[in-house]
Amino acid sequence: MDFKDTPEQAAFRAEVRQWLTANARPKQSGAGRPSQAERYDDAKRWYKKVADAGFACLDWPKEYGGAGLSQIHKVIWSQEVANYAEPDGYFVIGIGNCGPAIMHFASEQQKQHLLPRMASAEDVWCQMFSEPSAGSDVAGLRTSAVKQGDKWVVNGQKIWTSGAQHSDYGVILCRTDTEVSKYRGMTMFYIDMRQPGVDVKPIKQMDGDAHFNEVFFNDAEIPDSQRLGEIGGGWGAALLVLMNERLAISGVQPDGFPELLQLVKTLQIDGEPVSDNPSVREHLADWYCQHAGIKASTNRMLTAVAKGGMPGAEAALGKLVGAVMNQDIANYALQLLGESGPVMNPDFAPQQAHFQKTALFSPGIRLAGGTDEVMRNIIAEQVLGMPQEPRADKGMAFKDIPSGNQSA
Ligand SMILES: Cc1cc2nc3c(=O)[nH]c(=O)nc-3n(C[C@H](O)[C@H](O)[C@H](O)COP(=O)(O)OP(=O)(O)OC[C@H]3O[C@@H](n4cnc5c(N)ncnc54)[C@H](O)[C@@H]3O)c2cc1C
Repeated sequence: MDFKDTPEQAAFRAEVRQWLTANARPKQSGAGRPSQAERYDDAKRWYKKVADAGFACLDWPKEYGGAGLSQIHKVIWSQEVANYAEPDGYFVIGIGNCGPAIMHFASEQQKQHLLPRMASAEDVWCQMFSEPSAGSDVAGLRTSAVKQGDKWVVNGQKIWTSGAQHSDYGVILCRTDTEVSKYRGMTMFYIDMRQPGVDVKPIKQMDGDAHFNEVFFNDAEIPDSQRLGEIGGGWGAALLVLMNERLAISGVQPDGFPELLQLVKTLQIDGEPVSDNPSVREHLADWYCQHAGIKASTNRMLTAVAKGGMPGAEAALGKLVGAVMNQDIANYALQLLGESGPVMNPDFAPQQAHFQKTALFSPGIRLAGGTDEVMRNIIAEQVLGMPQEPRADKGMAFKDIPSGNQSA
């Protein structure tokens, strides 16, 4: 990848900078910690503003609410907006995961109606794949959709659905055939989250927020026109979503290094700058190497995508290293802060309690979008070419796979 902007890219960067200078809030500008509802409203306001200015979903076609530009323009935008305190990645699941599914599978009329509203966050979307007994092995899911005339009737439960309580629509993966292997019997749909038969229950986390939810379906009806892809083609459709998820996450997933560097530059212990401490310097050097490595591998992936390729196993590498590092750095920073480490009040804690919040939420990042172990499996099998792990249910009809739930 050539890291220098072309003249056209440089002009775009200048345009973005000018707009952000006039419209975005600088970092460290707000006081206190807004509530979850306030952060949601704030994110909606920001997305609408960005869309009105023509900077939303830069690589989407203009007729669907984008700007008809490229992945590289998106990277430039992300690099520049990262200097501000705006919630630019807040709706990444809808736009980054559900958006490509709608773009790929929905009818032209649906795309023209749904996508511009998604881009400006007028409509918020969630992704409903995981279930209590189907997370890493999402193809083991049991929420059923049964065809009745020109509609489908959905029953079952999803879990860990980020943002479901705020969502207008969700992309949902359902079991539509139990007679074939688990990968061949799934179908993807989109569903109105406010309709009868859909019940959303937020799950409270240890940081006090309720980022994700349980979602229950009791005879919820979906018109066949909201099917995304072929009947039984849900696994292929899900892979498209998951590959785009890795790409979307890689743009916004923090690894914690810039924040740690900022802390170390300002902190003193026993009157000495922390940055002079050899142990701290060694940690910084290690994490800088990992930070630079993630950046390089993300750039390699973006280069491949810009040339028409698909996001590949490089994303698993960045996800694994970045998520572990983010948690390790937060815990290390709390140790450096000593007795003031546990102070959660953003008015007193450095960087508005960034490290305290991260220490509580970063374990979840190591699970979301695929756990550490699943990332290691992807790297082992797809990068290193090691043998696939044994799959005992390979080729077995879904209904014959032993489970605790014999009703499916
Ligand atoms: C913050 C957050 C947001 C999320 N948002 C969403 C969302 O919006 N939509 C959605 O559908 N889901 C979402 N999820 C769910 C997420 O995708 C799952 O948590 C994840 O896939 C792991 O599934 P699980 O929790 O069922 O764990 P399990 O799959 O049950 O795993 C349990 C443990 O076993 C290990 N394990 C499992 N399989 C293997 C294997 N083959 N080899 C080695 N080890 C293995 C795992 O690494 C883990 O340590 C979210 C999760 C989090 C934490």
